Amino acid sequence: MSFGNWFNREKEEIPEKFHSYESGKAFENCMICDKYLLDPGTRYMIEKAFKQYSGFQSKDVLFEFAICEDCGTSMRADLSKESLDNIQQYFFTNANRVIDMDEYEKNSSVSDLFTQKCIIKNINKEDLTEFQMIAYCDGPNLSLSEPPLLISELAADEIQELISEQTRDELERFTDDLTGLPPELKELFKDEMILI
Ligand SMILES: [Zn+2]
Repeated sequence: MSFGNWFNREKEEIPEKFHSYESGKAFENCMICDKYLLDPGTRYMIEKAFKQYSGFQSKDVLFEFAICEDCGTSMRADLSKESLDNIQQYFFTNANRVIDMDEYEKNSSVSDLFTQKCIIKNINKEDLTEFQMIAYCDGPNLSLSEPPLLISELAADEIQELISEQTRDELERFTDDLTGLPPELKELFKDEMILI
């Protein structure tokens, strides 16, 4: 089954795992421009990174944020064509777009179904030390056109390698220009692969 079929499902409200750890509620505003996100028709993405320790049930949230579609587009515009092509090619070649029919029928939740293992490395979430989860959203719901995904640190590192030096400089300039962004988030944008 391809991703194309997943939207036959009912609309799904943004699940708790994509809520803000800090507030305990759904993200309400774009981290960059502060736009309100929960009106239907407002498109945005949520990204959260986790670190977990084997043998422990708990995990740390390394970072989390929501970015509206417009801000995401501005950031992507700073990526060179070469970097964008590289990333697209990487996903095209490596992403596991086939889902298990049994799992599909068993899972009532789309977000559970798509965040069980790394989309690239096929490793179960339980066996990962660090991973990121991304959800594409529309107001209070998950987007019906793009399923959420989980990416292991291993794959995120590989993707980061695909970004040219020039693009890194551009992204750095972009974050320097952002006003009101807390310093720790600026550092994050510079050091971490933000998958937009
Ligand atoms: Zn924004």
